[in-house]
Amino acid sequence: MTTSAEIIAKHKRYVIPTYAPGLVLVKGKGTRVWDADGKVYLDFLAGIAVQNLGHCHPRVVEAICTQAQKLVHVSNLYYNENQPRLAEKLANLALHGKCFFANSGAEANEALIKLVRLWGSSKGRHDIITMTNSFHGRTLATLAATGQTKYQEGFAPLTSGFSHVQFNDLESVKAAITDKTAAVLVEAVQGEGGVIPATPEFMQGVRALCDEHGILMLCDEVQCGMGRTGRWFGFQHFDVEPDAFSLAKALGSGYPIGAIVTRPHLADVFQPGKHASTFGGSPLACAAALATIQAIDDEKLLDHATAMGDRFKNGISAMAPRYEHIKDVRGLGLMIGIELDQAAKPIVDKLTENGLISVATGAHVVRFLPPLNVKQTEIDEALEIIDEVMAEVHGITREE
Ligand code: PLP
Repeated sequence: MTTSAEIIAKHKRYVIPTYAPGLVLVKGKGTRVWDADGKVYLDFLAGIAVQNLGHCHPRVVEAICTQAQKLVHVSNLYYNENQPRLAEKLANLALHGKCFFANSGAEANEALIKLVRLWGSSKGRHDIITMTNSFHGRTLATLAATGQTKYQEGFAPLTSGFSHVQFNDLESVKAAITDKTAAVLVEAVQGEGGVIPATPEFMQGVRALCDEHGILMLCDEVQCGMGRTGRWFGFQHFDVEPDAFSLAKALGSGYPIGAIVTRPHLADVFQPGKHASTFGGSPLACAAALATIQAIDDEKLLDHATAMGDRFKNGISAMAPRYEHIKDVRGLGLMIGIELDQAAKPIVDKLTENGLISVATGAHVVRFLPPLNVKQTEIDEALEIIDEVMAEVHGITREE
């Protein structure tokens, strides 16, 4: 068998270093993953909110294998039976309009941006307001939409037509709206920005402002969608509906697929020839997504995610008073962050050494995104590891 060291050496020699990966993972089942040297980990990152059903969920594996033997790809020059079935499912989950399919979060957001531009072109409205600390992807337009300069440095000139306002500050949105504004784009929970939920007042206020000015409210549900927060979509916590939203990550349980879902009034803005994606909405990608939605539904994972998220967050909050470096514990459903008063990366490394996978987001936040079907015993096991690591960092002997 090839060892971790051999795989890492080959990777460093041949793969362009846009990432700085850690473990060499070779196998996964449910919430567990195995590295090339046989060590097992609790995966509380789930492919960064992709494996919402855990690794190798039998229904998704079966759907992919069955569809792969039947028809993988036909191009969008032809109908395929799975694409409208998936669009119907998504439209019935929210907004009741139509869908466009892409392959990633950035590509879905590009589609949203193009939809807004096309919608606004006859009205002289082309600008999009987004939030500070937001994250919308790495393509040039989504990079310009992203409200974090660290991702933009070195890539000037950025795509024009974006302005950034303070997240959860309605006055700053109000002040930024002009007669050129076409839309406001927001995440219901900022993931890359540090696991920061929107406030109900903000989400409802943005909706009201958009209605008042006749402009569009858009949500980026790439990370917080597909049940991650205990509802199908993050905005559903706030009693508001956007005019359109984007999805990717967990939609296909790891098989790449992205989508935009629109309200009926935007459903026919794109006409043939206005937008396209070779792989978008292939029979195979849609089969993976259909199986994913069915499993979340049948296994009642929205309620389970809420219950497990509460248990996890309460467990961390209960230990927090013993550990002065913990400044905040926050999140929605199974999207949870611990804010520290020190760098998060060394803590993430220690958690990994102790068998729990998480990720540092921003400088000071440890982010956890376990699968929605995580077991109660796995939540308790993770809490035990966090307690162990925190005690070690604080030089404290743990209470048994
Ligand atoms: N939007 C949000 C909210 C995200 O969290 C991400 C990725 O982390 C993206 C967009 C970009 O998605 P992708 O990496 O699939 O292009």
